[in-house]
Amino acid sequence: MILFCRTCGNVLKVVEAGYSGLQFACNTCPYVFKISRKISNRTYPKLKELDDVLGGAAAWENVDSTAERCPKCCHPRAYFMQIQTRSADEPMTIFYKCCNSSCGHNWRE
Ligand SMILES: [Zn+2]
Ligand SMILES: [Zn+2]
Repeated sequence: MILFCRTCGNVLKVVEAGYSGLQFACNTCPYVFKISRKISNRTYPKLKELDDVLGGAAAWENVDSTAERCPKCCHPRAYFMQIQTRSADEPMTIFYKCCNSSCGHNWRE
């Protein structure tokens, strides 16, 4: 997920905001955008945005699968993709998608 600063237009950095959730902070101005982890875990509002990052369902065609257990249905394998969601000097984020076609749960490392 990439968010841009509403004030100056720079890409926002993701920073941990303690146990309550994540926040996106601008490097060059004081703009901060907070995300509550509790709400996102319950309702999965990020799935839509995750789809946007990954280019939709077609992005998952012909990707490799790995032995990663689905947190939703406990299927033992998941497709995975490495995506640069932050600035280029930060590590890649790994996205997973459950191999169980009737589940299809998306999550990130
Ligand atoms: Zn800014
Ligand atoms: Zn699953």
